[in-house]
Amino acid sequence: MPIKSILHKVAHPFSSTSKAASSITFDKFCNIIDGKQRSGDQIHNAINPRTQEKLWDIPIATENDVNDAVKAAERAFQDWRPTPIENRQKLMKEYIQLWKEHHTEMTDLLMAENGKARTMAIVEVDSVSAFWEYFSKITFPVEEFEDEQKVVKTIYKPLGVAVGISPWNFPLSLSLAFKVAPAIVADCPIIIKPSPFTPYTAAKAIELAQQIFPPGLIQCLGGDDRLGPWLTGHPDVKKISFTGSIATGKKVTEACSKDLKRVVLELGGNDPAVVCEDVDIEATAAECAMGSWFNTGQMCVCTKRIFVHEKIYKPFMEAMIKFTKTLSLEAEGEGALLGPVQNEMQYEKVLEVVEDSRVKGGGKGFFINPTIVDNPPSDSIVWKEEPFGPIVPVQPWKDEADVIRRCNDDKTGLGACVYSKDIERAERIAANIDSGTVWVNSFEKPVPEAYFSGHKMSGLGGEGSVKGMLAYCNATVNQRYKKNVNYA
Ligand code: NAD
Repeated sequence: MPIKSILHKVAHPFSSTSKAASSITFDKFCNIIDGKQRSGDQIHNAINPRTQEKLWDIPIATENDVNDAVKAAERAFQDWRPTPIENRQKLMKEYIQLWKEHHTEMTDLLMAENGKARTMAIVEVDSVSAFWEYFSKITFPVEEFEDEQKVVKTIYKPLGVAVGISPWNFPLSLSLAFKVAPAIVADCPIIIKPSPFTPYTAAKAIELAQQIFPPGLIQCLGGDDRLGPWLTGHPDVKKISFTGSIATGKKVTEACSKDLKRVVLELGGNDPAVVCEDVDIEATAAECAMGSWFNTGQMCVCTKRIFVHEKIYKPFMEAMIKFTKTLSLEAEGEGALLGPVQNEMQYEKVLEVVEDSRVKGGGKGFFINPTIVDNPPSDSIVWKEEPFGPIVPVQPWKDEADVIRRCNDDKTGLGACVYSKDIERAERIAANIDSGTVWVNSFEKPVPEAYFSGHKMSGLGGEGSVKGMLAYCNATVNQRYKKNVNYA
């Protein structure tokens, strides 16, 4: 049965653990403003990348909707602000429970809007509960210093109304896990703007949150090209957390500069992986392939350039091809790891990088076979640009200093991987790569406990960990003197 028809049938009552016993359906989508569902005169439909069929109607937010959402968020900020952190985190734990009860419907919805294979969709749905669990337990850091004269303490105060703008590749993780959870712990109301390519899961997840959180605290506005600028230009929005492309990140920064809004940018990357000659070839080739093909190559920290030591270059390439051939690219996405590319624009872009790789038969959906490019020149598009699809180039290396230089020869610096049995050597190479995270002996796996950030053009500030939560706060230093100073 097609996913869409399964979803049309779903009408699940909330569990008794939720505050309000109401129902949620997965075939009607609205913006969420001040605790209520709001539709509109203009609607939009995203496309299922697996079937190329139109998905459900969803309203296009107006400027009036933006103003109402910001006002509701400000009211929530005033009402919610005295709520102690323990109470906020108690509500977060209730949400996790509710989230788990809707695991299957969220997975199906994510597959429909994004095209992910089921395995990948489950990873993303689970990432939301994992991040919420982490953020529902953290505490503010205690920063105190004392000497004979004074006591110095730092306290953190919420910035106010925040906006989270997300891309289409991880519509749930990058809205709910990386942005909503830390904002709530920090005591900031947040408005999420999902990508128009994937507007449904975030809207539904935030509709679900209305059963637990007060109105105006967590809101969702989907819309067209006007919506992002309305939000980044709104004078009462105090912080923008943006995840997306470098080009849009620059526009967001420019808009935020007008009133010096706080801004966090999580942008693109061109992750290198360095494979040393002492590795287990088969295991490491599989690890690199997973890094390249994860989410069909559409992850900011996918492995996007692989450097293999020249002594093992040929057997490594053979092992990577062999492993990749075991992965299936199924139209239904049930037993597969790889799905279609998410949208037509991206599909055309990846096809430009590698032509003639369309899956034969059927002819439906934005499917591209995973492609490994053997030793392309360093000025080729596939080497220099983030393709954001299932294609990865490989080059040989022999000198450690030279491979580090080649890793760093890029305008971005988001993630990187180093593979070696010699941990000291791997750590030395890792320490010299200019990127926000370096994974050693693993492909890229962001976790809630770690600060996720980019060097160079990959971003500004970061998300995840206590540090990511503090990015929703202003610091105030309280410097108290113990006795009067005698100036005479
Ligand atoms: P995009 O920049 O086109 O869009 C991202 C979001 O910004 C969308 O919601 C879009 O509607 C919105 N937007 C567009 N114009 C805007 C404007 N002027 N003002 C405000 N918002 C605006 O990116 P995309 O194509 O959706 O996503 C792919 C990119 O995202 C890739 O480059 C990828 O590397 C990057 N990405 C980065 C991370 C990270 O954490 N560093 C994670 C995932 C994706």
